Order: sequence, then structure tokens, then C-alpha cells
Amino acid sequence: MAATTVYKYKEPAPRVDAENPLESMMSRFNVAAEILGLDEETYEVLKAADKQVIVHIPVTMDNGKVRVFEGYRVIHNTILGPSKGGIRYDKNVHLDEVKALAAWMTWKCAVVDIPYGGAKGGIICEPTKMSAGEIERLTRGYTLAMKDVFGPDRDIPAPDMGTGPREMAWLMDEFSKTVGGTSPAVVTGKPLVMGGSLGRTEATGRGVMVAAMAALKKLGLDPHTVSAAVQGFGNVGSWAAKLLSEKGVKIKGLSDVSGAYWNDNGIDIDEAIAYKNAHAGRLDGFQGATMLENADDLLTTDVDVLVPAAVEDVITEHNAHAIKAKLIVEGANGPTSASADPIINEKGIMVVPDILANSGGVTVSYFEWVQNKQGFKWSEKMVTERADRIMNDAFEKVYQTSQKYDVPMRIAAYVVAIDKVAQTYKFRGGY
Ligand code: GLU
Repeated sequence: MAATTVYKYKEPAPRVDAENPLESMMSRFNVAAEILGLDEETYEVLKAADKQVIVHIPVTMDNGKVRVFEGYRVIHNTILGPSKGGIRYDKNVHLDEVKALAAWMTWKCAVVDIPYGGAKGGIICEPTKMSAGEIERLTRGYTLAMKDVFGPDRDIPAPDMGTGPREMAWLMDEFSKTVGGTSPAVVTGKPLVMGGSLGRTEATGRGVMVAAMAALKKLGLDPHTVSAAVQGFGNVGSWAAKLLSEKGVKIKGLSDVSGAYWNDNGIDIDEAIAYKNAHAGRLDGFQGATMLENADDLLTTDVDVLVPAAVEDVITEHNAHAIKAKLIVEGANGPTSASADPIINEKGIMVVPDILANSGGVTVSYFEWVQNKQGFKWSEKMVTERADRIMNDAFEKVYQTSQKYDVPMRIAAYVVAIDKVAQTYKFRGGY
């Protein structure tokens, strides 16, 4: 490719009080672009989001009053195929976050070599404070507002934080009404009975486990002698913790919104999951561990493996120097801000980056979409064997790239992803 240029990302950060995930994403993108010697035209094409849709959704609340919610869908890129990515329901959703998450989906799908572009959606709301009826009306309203954006060959949503199979079912139903026929392939992460895939629920956590095993092997560590802390005990964190413990890893620390829990002898993960399921999805009062005074300390506890599986920007320049783990496997999207990268690299910590480590979810989403299009259901064995193979192949490719360019795994993952999208763009061409 053409001579290298030094790129500077110029868009101002709208939030001054926090790390900006879009800036974090762009700073790694810039490093990878330089390594690849990306020409300016391709750089500009890959940098910008193709489309950003902002909608306002009026919803009649249970008290009879109408509330208007703001929702987003950002299509970052469709060079590799229809755009793919989840929908987040959270009070802190903001456009820059959705833009970063959409771009991460582009890179994630490219790293694991599945034929999708990247997108992400979000609605500013507090689902835990809303009734099922209110969430249903909000989901249907959002779907209707996005009816020209979504489509089985255009843009395919999925669950993310605050959403799950229930919301995907409403979305599928509402979209199907607008096209006048059942359209299962418009969304993934659906309930099993209506076209969901076996293995989808645990897919992201399983991918985290498979990536962690591959990384431990490279580090020459036996999982049976290794301890771990998992931050976040939602779908990704709880499955990752369970599957890692089944491989012999001692999970000493866990956390969720209620706080952080520690047991030096290892936490019984099945017990923690059963407790959470019986207590409205939270660990408050869990007796199998003691509570840490400060939940943030979980990230700097004395463990070999750290799995951040909650939100963005939890590992920053402020706490990175205190991390003791030898390996970080990122279950969440963007848990490490760019400001922490040099500190982590200096300490020699291996990081399996988000766009690789949590790609198991979208991989099985892809399998769900293929099954919907085939009208044929795969066995669980077929799903997990294929997903594990994709993760292991992608891990090896990123590892080899990191050796080739002598860069951390994170930059190597961006190099693999950007190279694939850039090469495809060259073949497809612009105008
Ligand atoms: N929300 C998940 C992610 O961030 C899954 C996306 C999908 O399955 O399309 O990867």
C-alpha cells in the first residue's frame, strides 16, 4: 500500500468528565493504519460511519403519560456484508459510544472472518425501572422507526446490554408485520422456539473461555494452576466464569452492580449463578464469598487472569499500573481506554482484545442467521465446534500478526481487521 501518513483524529470529545470510547477506538485504528500504510482515501472511508440514525420514540407509560425516548442506530460500515450489531438499553447510552461500538463490530466481524459489516443501536432508558409492557412498546416503536434501516440483508440487530431474547422476539414480530411475512433472519439472539440458535446464549462467554485457553497456552500456563477475577456477572461474565472454572481455573473474584466478591479458595460459580437467578439477577447477600470494601479493587487483585466483562473504560491510566494479572481477556467492548495501553504494554501483560475475545457472540449470531436463511436447525455440537474453531483460528492469526509486526495483540487484531476490510474495499471500489 502507499506511503505512510501520520493521522490525527480531530473530532472534539463531547464528554469532558469521562474517557471517550470513540477516541480510544480511533487511536488504535490510527496505529494500525500506519502499520498497514493505509492510503488516505481508504483511511477516510473506513474512519467515518456510513449512516447515523437518531429517532424519538413516543411511548405510553403505564401511568397513561407519554414519554419520548431517544434511540440510535449507527451503521459504521457495510463493505464486508450487511451490518451487524446489538442494541443497548441503558441510561448512559450516547452517540459517541454507539459510534465506537458500531466500529468495533466492523473490526470484530472482520477479525473472525464472517461476512458482516458493523453497526450498533441504543436507546437512552432505564429498563430495570420499566415494566415489561413499557419495554415492549418501546421496542416495537424503535423497530418501526428503524424499519427502513433493518433487514435480513441490510442491517441485522442482536442483544447487547439491557436487551435479550425477549426484546429480539418483539423486534422480529414488529419487523415481520411491516414486511407482511415472517422474517426471522432480521434479528439474532431470538428465543430458541422462534429461530434462535442452540449455543447462542453462552456463545460470548464461551468464546472468552476459548480465547483465554489459547492465550494461557502461549504463556505456558496450566489452567489448573491459574486464578482469575471476572468483572461483571451478566450474560458474558457469568458464562465466562462458569466455563473457565470448568477448565480448572480458580475464580477468586467476581463483581456485579451490587459490588465485588472475593474468596481466596475459589468461588463456586454454579452456586453464584443459582443465587443470582433467585435474587433478581443480583449477587447482593451472596454467602459464598466476602465483599470487597471497594468494588473497583477487583481489577487490581492478585490474580493471574482478569476478565473485564461489563462496560467500557474500566481499565484506565489511573488503575492500569496496579494491575497484577499476567493476562487480560476482554469480555466487554472497550473495557480498556487507550490511555492505559502503554502502561499495560510496559508491564508485559498479554491482552486478548475485545474485538477478538468477545467475538464468539456475533459468530454464533452469524450461525443463527445462516440457519434462518437455510430453514434448518443445527445441533449444539455443530454450533460449538464451528464457533471454537473460528475463535482458535482468529486467535492464531492475531497472535502471528503480533509477532510479525512486534506489536501487542490489540494492535495486531486491528491490523488483521482493517487489512481485510481495506482489501475488500479495493476490490469493490468507490465512485
Ligand atoms: N452485542 C454483541 C456484541 O457486542 C453481539 C452482537 C451480535 O450478535 O450481532 O458483540
